Amino acid sequence: MSFLHYNSIAQIADALKAGETTSVKVTQAVLDRIEAIDGQVQAFLCLDAVDTISQAQASDARRAQGSAIGRLDGIPIAIKDILAVKDQPLRCASKMLESYISPFDATCIRRLRDAGAVIFGRLNMDEFAMGSSTENSAFQTTSNPWNLDTIPGGSSGGSAAAIAAGEAIATLGTDTGGSIRQPAALCGVVGTKPTYGLISRYGLVAFASSLDQVGPLTRTVEDAALLMEAMIGKDALDSTSISPQGDICYAEALQKKKGPWKLGVPREFFGNGIDPEVKANIENAIEWYRSQGCEIIDISLPHSDLAVPVYYIIATAEASSNLARFDGVRYGHRSAAADDVLSLFTKSRGEGFGEEVKRRIILGTYVLSSGYYDSYYLRAQKVRTLIRNDFVKAFEQVDAILTPTSPTPAFKHGERNDDPLAMYLSDIYTISVNLSGLPAISVPSGFTKAGLPIGLQVIAPAFGEADLFAVAHSFEQAHDYHEQRPKL
Ligand code: GLN
Repeated sequence: MSFLHYNSIAQIADALKAGETTSVKVTQAVLDRIEAIDGQVQAFLCLDAVDTISQAQASDARRAQGSAIGRLDGIPIAIKDILAVKDQPLRCASKMLESYISPFDATCIRRLRDAGAVIFGRLNMDEFAMGSSTENSAFQTTSNPWNLDTIPGGSSGGSAAAIAAGEAIATLGTDTGGSIRQPAALCGVVGTKPTYGLISRYGLVAFASSLDQVGPLTRTVEDAALLMEAMIGKDALDSTSISPQGDICYAEALQKKKGPWKLGVPREFFGNGIDPEVKANIENAIEWYRSQGCEIIDISLPHSDLAVPVYYIIATAEASSNLARFDGVRYGHRSAAADDVLSLFTKSRGEGFGEEVKRRIILGTYVLSSGYYDSYYLRAQKVRTLIRNDFVKAFEQVDAILTPTSPTPAFKHGERNDDPLAMYLSDIYTISVNLSGLPAISVPSGFTKAGLPIGLQVIAPAFGEADLFAVAHSFEQAHDYHEQRPKL
């Protein structure tokens, strides 16, 4: 196989099975690629090569004995720095956790290990997953492999850039308001945000617990389906996790489910603020579905314009509570300048957290404070229900919904740094999905004239992953955008 580092999970699994390659060869190819180009991309915060190769050797040994576990056995998968991997750093790209080593594996990591995957690397991100450009990392700035002057999106920017640059076969990210799908769109890869609760959050450092979900970033929709199958399911360690319902043989369903589907296009998603090239691209994608016999239905999600403000009340409220645990006593950074208990808290937090994290803690504390709770937090919860009901109503008419993933392609480093509101609008098309607990995927849909990737978002009803993947797969297979590679 040529360019091992740019193959899909499915291709490598076939080659491993046929004895045409080994896990050590694939893993070494990925490590060599990182060595060659990560100085430019800066997707990885750190990497334990010895541990990585020894996992690959163990996989090859299993295979030699005829006891390979399944399609993921021996596949190197890199991990966002917010998911706990035993004995590896878990820093959330924050000074607060600079020297923290995780004593345990997150449930999703354990499940991938049980499937034989080679778990490696710590991928860069916005600090505590707050951001849309990966520029909020306390340690380094990741670049978009398609144009190193631009950002990879965020907060899972390292996870998306690593796939685009051939530095991993697949990666895991997390999505609270769009952090898997938006960077996937900006880097030209596939990003999946599962139904809320389908994948355990145990071992995922909490940002906003009612919104956070783990999900895969991959080269193909089929790879996303394979990874999801291995990770889903009820977990006694996360009370919000749920047993999957309906068709859960996602990869197999891709071969069976061929449409035609009824697809909704929400008119609110094509108005102000969308880049004209992105708009034209998504309209073309919709026309392609129509040409395949799908019925395209004009729908309305009337409360969409409230999604961003509602999100920034709920997410910051939850974050202010979740991040209270970083107090200089139990976890992470402890100020050397403190001389009493109160200054231990304030100085440790003041020194450990970056600017965006502090902004959110302050905002979240404000909306929860007595006197403001009713007018902000409670109202936001009510509007959240209205947003969710819009989707419930839409799904009475359609099987899935098509939208752009991001209103613009990748922007230049620094362009939105002084304007938090402009940055917050990067997730205008993804946030309502998290507020509603629904599954969605971003699939590559083409490029701008300047050669930057564009992503199409498909949204399905809760637990509709089998259809979600099938709708996205049909588009992917009829185009070759996912096979394009940046010149790196
Ligand atoms: N960009 C959004 C934010 O900054 C979403 C982040 C995420 O999904 N983790 O909150």
